[in-house]
Amino acid sequence: MPASTQNVFRRLLGSLVQWIDSDYSLESPEAIRAQPDGVNLVRCLPFVILHLGCLGVLWVGGSWFAAGVAVALYFARMFFVTGIFHRYFSHKTYSTSRFGQFVLAVLTGTTVQRGALWWAYHHRHHHQHSDEPEDAHSPHVHGFLWSHIGWITSRRNFPTDYSKIRDLAKYPELVFLNRFDILVPVLFATALFVGGNYLGHAAPALHTSGAQLLVWGFFISTTALFHGTACINSLAHLMGNRRFETTDDSRNSFILSLITLGEGWHNNHHRYMSATRQGFYWWELDITYYLLKALSWTGFIWGLKEVPASIYMEAEQRHHQDTLSRFSVSSVQHEINTLRRMVPTAAVIAMATVNSPANADQLQRKDEPTISKDVTGQTQHPGASAPAPRA
Ligand SMILES: [Zn+2]
Ligand SMILES: [Zn+2]
Repeated sequence: MPASTQNVFRRLLGSLVQWIDSDYSLESPEAIRAQPDGVNLVRCLPFVILHLGCLGVLWVGGSWFAAGVAVALYFARMFFVTGIFHRYFSHKTYSTSRFGQFVLAVLTGTTVQRGALWWAYHHRHHHQHSDEPEDAHSPHVHGFLWSHIGWITSRRNFPTDYSKIRDLAKYPELVFLNRFDILVPVLFATALFVGGNYLGHAAPALHTSGAQLLVWGFFISTTALFHGTACINSLAHLMGNRRFETTDDSRNSFILSLITLGEGWHNNHHRYMSATRQGFYWWELDITYYLLKALSWTGFIWGLKEVPASIYMEAEQRHHQDTLSRFSVSSVQHEINTLRRMVPTAAVIAMATVNSPANADQLQRKDEPTISKDVTGQTQHPGASAPAPRA
């Protein structure tokens, strides 16, 4: 067998093993990260299956109960993404016990967004290189589609570099959950199937079944959860206001805060990432923060970090008139208009892009000027000045 064919087989086998053991690799994380971006179809096949699984609704049908479960699981797990992956593992904005930390890591497993250490590693990397070429998911550098979904399919973004997250990697139980990140999602999907089957017999008035809860509670809800989360990587650097002059193009968006339970205040967060709250003012809806605050009253977590007075002073000095009056219907209408311009463009590009590294590369060049200009109507370079106050 020629050496090149052997190499292809070795890589194929390696990708299959990685479905089970995500730390299995023939190369070091540094070597993989040094490679150019490119879609690895075999490795990300489970991700494709997750999306295709939504079509199962054609066979299992729907019920009010199954739809309710999908919505409830979307918001519960969005809290796990924002309150645990992001505000605990990535930024350590509050404390908990070692057992509590393990429980939090298990809960994040149900989100099907890989392990907590992989998530935290990539997120910290984003903050270090926001909107620079090294940033894995900047819409300004790589285009909208790559920042939203492409980067997650790229081989160079699969490994977890444990050397960069030593504060988390010192806990073997966290490394175990991160390495075998398929374990909790499989248990979660199985629980939905078994639970649905039980309810199908025990409560026939709900008109549900194991297969129906699997499709709605796992496939549909998890796919929506992924795209809701991914909006922060793509849209939160394109849509909304800039209160602080940060070195990236992060923005504050009310609409994104609604669908992500508070993560839409992304410019606030990029300015001061150590605070537990991301809505810095009372009118900036941040449901994740309210839930974490309530959880702290139980003693399960503690030491929530506040926004320092110096950051509020900085906001005032920028004459941003951060008052409720500024949060008007017209500012939300502006975000809606932005979406109206952007979503069709992104959809056309998505349909024209068939999973190919070459196409993805073209996309990075093709969609950047169109989408960025449409959205902001301003210069695109990182650190662009804040938009003029709107009426
Ligand atoms: Zn960001
Ligand atoms: Zn962050």
